[in-house]
Amino acid sequence: MGAEQVRDGFVALYGTEPEGVWSAPGRVNLIGEHTDYNDGFVMPFALPHTAVAAVSRRDDGVLRLHSADIEDGVAELRLDDLVPETDRGWTAYPAGVVWALREAGHAVTGADIHLTSTVPSGAGLSSSAALEVVVALALNDLYELGLQRWQLARLCQRAENVYVGAPTGIMDQTASACCEEGHALFLDTRDLSQKQIPFDLASEGMRLLVVDTQVKHSHSEGEYGKRRAGCERGAALLGVDALRDIAYGDLDAALARLGDDEEAVRLVRHVVTEDERVEKAVALLESGDTRAIGPVLVAGHASLRDDFRISCPELDLVVDTAMSAGALGSRMTGGGFGGSAIVLADVADVDSITKAVEEAFAAAGFTAPRVFEAVPAPGARRLV
Ligand code: ADP
Ligand code: MG
Repeated sequence: MGAEQVRDGFVALYGTEPEGVWSAPGRVNLIGEHTDYNDGFVMPFALPHTAVAAVSRRDDGVLRLHSADIEDGVAELRLDDLVPETDRGWTAYPAGVVWALREAGHAVTGADIHLTSTVPSGAGLSSSAALEVVVALALNDLYELGLQRWQLARLCQRAENVYVGAPTGIMDQTASACCEEGHALFLDTRDLSQKQIPFDLASEGMRLLVVDTQVKHSHSEGEYGKRRAGCERGAALLGVDALRDIAYGDLDAALARLGDDEEAVRLVRHVVTEDERVEKAVALLESGDTRAIGPVLVAGHASLRDDFRISCPELDLVVDTAMSAGALGSRMTGGGFGGSAIVLADVADVDSITKAVEEAFAAAGFTAPRVFEAVPAPGARRLV
């Protein structure tokens, strides 16, 4: 939806013009899965799908929230009443951002917000981060808080971890806040240092497809927490702060130390090899050998399926079918247990791969997947 429509929606709801309109994208992660809470590497890029919010300040301690996509009226909250983990609805995301800003000492005194989003919800494409980041950027601009993008990402993560109560890493919010058009974002999640990596598939005759399996990952929170705790246990057993600190060259020795602790072996092996895969993909992209990232994606999928054990039949079917139909690479992306997979392919093969995946889903009796092409889009920005 365009900025004009969102502004009109604001006027219809609140009876005044908004002070501005902002957008923030969803993302897909090219490679680097479940590394962000291990202080490791990730490489997401922004989707053209965005959350768009029209926002005005208020000075009376009231926060009014409305989503065009949810059949609810306007939610009216008092800033002084915002308490973590008390709201199970969508308003927890924007309210959490306001809470996190105020808790960090920023003088936000209220807001009227009307938003809408084209980021599919619960598809592993980070509709939640888009919602958080668009609100954070708007308030940063309007209240002249002077926060940098990475600082907004940290506050949004805090909103999601503490206020919403979802234990997610820092990748999603940083991607939405910091990605640039035509680039993938190589992010070190330990210190948030970043490098924009040119990622222009079209000029090389390739495409990247996103296949949303339509399997909602909402039941996955418990499993996510278990993996996260398992990684922390592995790091403790190995005497490091985070699994990021195990160098790829030291992996065999580390696994030997874990002995017959089968779960720790699997989790540690995934995280350490996944960090290596991100670095490899970055090197390949920087050297202009984009096609060669295909096998890196496939190896990443195998590691998530066999070692981290967070795939599902639908995601595996996308990857297996796409590869059999001539894709260059494919893997699940996002938290797992549903959501989306990505497929890297030559332009000439896109239609036949799409058809093959759709037919395989029909034959397996799965809900039809949603397939779309992803082009690296801009990060969060002010539209009006
Ligand atoms: P993901 O980030 O992978 O899409 P999450 O479970 O983290 O999945 O976030 C999805 C939640 O974000 C939804 O349940 C809803 O509360 C909120 N959300 C996403 N899009 C919208 C929207 N357009 N309007 C209101 N809330 C939304
Ligand atoms: Mg999310």
